[in-house]
Amino acid sequence: MKCPFCSEDVAENAIKCRHCGSVIDKVKFNKVNNEISDVARAAELEEVGLSDYYKTSFEKIDKNNGEFTVVFNWAAFVFSGFWYLYKGMWGKGAVMFALVLLFGGLPAPLFWIYAGIAGTYDYYLLRVKGKQMW
Ligand SMILES: [Zn+2]
Repeated sequence: MKCPFCSEDVAENAIKCRHCGSVIDKVKFNKVNNEISDVARAAELEEVGLSDYYKTSFEKIDKNNGEFTVVFNWAAFVFSGFWYLYKGMWGKGAVMFALVLLFGGLPAPLFWIYAGIAGTYDYYLLRVKGKQMW
């Protein structure tokens, strides 16, 4: 068929003219466009899943070649074992709960401090390196 804008030959079902770049089939063009932006939006949401706080912190750790970096994390400090479970780090969260149950809350302050100091790095290991135990 011929492009209605420039009269050059284009494929039968062409969505866009490859000669002048005009959109020939607006309906199809919009459909494809929406599909592309749906994928883009999903990818964006995935990104948003990691808040700015962690993005900044992870960049710091990256600059340190992925080595242990102290980034004090108040949420982790306050919620320690719960925070670990909430962030999907079941291993350490479970260990903390097990020890607290075993020793009746005695080691809890140690976990607060541990989580506060190492929590962000542990989360980095999980999200970036895909591992969660020591
Ligand atoms: Zn054309």
